[in-house]
Amino acid sequence: MTTLLKDSYGRVIRDLRVSLTDRCNFRCFYCLPHGEPPIAPKEQMLSYEEIEYVAEIFVSLGIEKIRLTGGEPMMRRDIETIIRKLSALKPGLHDLALTTNGYFLPGRAEGLKEAGLDRITISIDSLKPEVFKSMTGVDVLDRVLEGIEAAQRAGLTPIKINAVIVRGHNEDEVVDFAAFAREHDVSMRFIEFMPLDSGHDWSRADVFSGREMFERINERFPLAPLKVRRGSETSARYGFADGAPGEIGIIAPVTQAFCGACSRIRLTADGQIRTCLFSTVEHSLRDVVRGGATRTEIIEYIQSVVLKKEPRHYINDPEFMQPARTMSFIGG
Ligand code: SAM
Ligand code: SF4
Repeated sequence: MTTLLKDSYGRVIRDLRVSLTDRCNFRCFYCLPHGEPPIAPKEQMLSYEEIEYVAEIFVSLGIEKIRLTGGEPMMRRDIETIIRKLSALKPGLHDLALTTNGYFLPGRAEGLKEAGLDRITISIDSLKPEVFKSMTGVDVLDRVLEGIEAAQRAGLTPIKINAVIVRGHNEDEVVDFAAFAREHDVSMRFIEFMPLDSGHDWSRADVFSGREMFERINERFPLAPLKVRRGSETSARYGFADGAPGEIGIIAPVTQAFCGACSRIRLTADGQIRTCLFSTVEHSLRDVVRGGATRTEIIEYIQSVVLKKEPRHYINDPEFMQPARTMSFIGG
């Protein structure tokens, strides 16, 4: 019988997010706006063999979903190898997914599918070239749109599209994005701006709330809640009431926290376990593995770390402290 990973609040951990790199070719202002981030030295990064080794242990402990992220995970040259190795963990592993900014997908989407990737999420914050450039720091909207098409052709479906909605930047596009979801039969995920930016410029006033997103979309395209097992699902999911293709998901961690149902932990590119996006402490699985621990000792270590998972985040408390590492290091 599998020993499940359970935290001290009874939440079962089924979902592991693995950051493959802290590097990125974009400079999204809500993530890492200020020039070059302090990159971790190469020798501190987990090799693909180490990722494969620990992922197998996590799956033996009941992890069913692995999402590869970053930084920009496709900047890692061995990503196809990593996917191939992790895909060999099926059927214990049910779902192998990737979140990417889409830049490298034209020409490489097919290879990801062949390596065993199940699904892909592509981030795109604006459908207007000038707003896309001002939000991401790069003028490559067309290429990312090509990337979405390439992923669709490769069968990396159902495709999810992430858009971080920030007041004063792109909140006027939520209806356009909903129209995009209907036209391209994709699942749009609208995300509230969280205090995880390297510039520490986040302000509550910039948060365009999930409720506001819902109201704007629902007014133009009436939405019908999807009857899905909410479980650890972070987004409230809707279909279109008129039966059009596509789906809407609203992820509102700031105004409608979903910590009670959280089933996630994260592994950073340099091998630190984070039990919450907003954790202020990390646990070095890398040091344990490199220190020669046995498989049993590694399992005990992971179990002890999971027991320290925070009950909830504290974004809305007056004493909230932004974590030292930002989204590009943690792995969104
Ligand atoms: N580079 C890839 C990408 O952009 O999809 C993967 C890593 S990125 C950190 C993962 C997701 O986190 C993206 O969809 C991004 O928009 C989101 N994200 C980054 N910073 C955020 C913030 N401060 N608040 C909300 N979402 C954020
Ligand atoms: Fe890079 Fe993704 Fe962060 Fe944008 S959100 S800077 S693409 S890691």
